[in-house]
Amino acid sequence: MNVVIYARYSSNSQRDASIEIQLEDCYKYCKDNGLTVVEEYIDKALTGRSDKRPKFMKMVKDSAKGHFQEVITYRFDRFSRDKTDNVIYKNALRKNGVKVVSVHEQITDDPTGAFIESIIEAYGAFYSAELAQKVTDGLEHNAKNFLSNGTKMLGYITGADKKYQIDPETAPIVKYIYEEYANGKTIVEITDYLNSKGYKTSTGGKFNKNSLRTILKNKRYIGYYIFRGVETPNVMPRIISDELFYKVADIMEKNRKAPARSKANVEYLLTTKLFCGHCKEMMTGYSGTGKMGVVYNYYICNGKKKKLCDKKMVKKDYIENIVVTQCRKY
Ligand SMILES: [Zn+2]
Repeated sequence: MNVVIYARYSSNSQRDASIEIQLEDCYKYCKDNGLTVVEEYIDKALTGRSDKRPKFMKMVKDSAKGHFQEVITYRFDRFSRDKTDNVIYKNALRKNGVKVVSVHEQITDDPTGAFIESIIEAYGAFYSAELAQKVTDGLEHNAKNFLSNGTKMLGYITGADKKYQIDPETAPIVKYIYEEYANGKTIVEITDYLNSKGYKTSTGGKFNKNSLRTILKNKRYIGYYIFRGVETPNVMPRIISDELFYKVADIMEKNRKAPARSKANVEYLLTTKLFCGHCKEMMTGYSGTGKMGVVYNYYICNGKKKKLCDKKMVKKDYIENIVVTQCRKY
């Protein structure tokens, strides 16, 4: 008899058997029972509750071709944990003469077997709904008690009690970012400095414009606990003073409203003559205004503008001076 194997693994559940274990057990079952496996259908890291499983849907569709007579699964909950889905897709398969078989829940082809199968299916659906509810309850419980829901945040650490505490190692970075921005440094200057020193974001990556803006707008640093849009003041340990936080907010707002600030009338001597040593693209003039109205002029690689190159911007004066000095020598 020709059969197919269906396996599914959801990475967020530690209870799940790995794909490898599922396949191994399925193949052993097929070998022991003289079944020929004509296809494997594997969905990874996808929910068992909905039909948003591409391989699962393909298997149901393929069953109409009559190439296989059984679907072998590790357990019935791999097939589906949703009662409605279960009935719909099992019926669809049955119509095509295909039966679903669980390697670890072998059930006889009689009324007792049908009864046991329905119990197993009901338990799977219950377990899934119960788990979802548990997760939601857990998040809400944490929020009510102003505890961490697992999100890492620069400046804070959480102990076993999930309470937020100021992290003596990273809180100074948060302070540095706010103070330097309030003092007129640009976001690019601050990120360049932090990255050059090897500092990392809360997720262990490099700082960029987005991560810096997120930090500069995070009201948790002035004591707010935020959950699903609800802000509770005076709960989080404070890292930034209100005065500094709102000064930064004002500057960000001003910069947001002045997008044309970089279009100053400056002559870029090296236009059409300067090329990136990394990607060979042309480098063109680029300027930005610091918080105190100071204009910074650079050359930027056009490949970098398209995010295809990691060449840092070069200060206009610096590179023009070098080129002019060298030219004079000749
Ligand atoms: Zn380049």
